[in-house]
Amino acid sequence: MSATTPARSVAVPAISPRLLAIALVTVVLALMLAYLVGFDQGALSRSGMYLHELMHDGRHLLGVPCH
Ligand SMILES: [Zn+2]
Repeated sequence: MSATTPARSVAVPAISPRLLAIALVTVVLALMLAYLVGFDQGALSRSGMYLHELMHDGRHLLGVPCH
């Protein structure tokens, strides 16, 4: 008789925590950019006319109703 013990299964996550963190940061940054370009209307991008005009041009480029 052999004295081997049965192998135990180890749970391995399907998605690594590092990949999940990178994906979450990417989604948050994309949502912030979409808000700035599409819906900000100058509330947050009031730091200067250059940023405001850049977001305004992006809004027109994406076809978001503006004025
Ligand atoms: Zn416009």
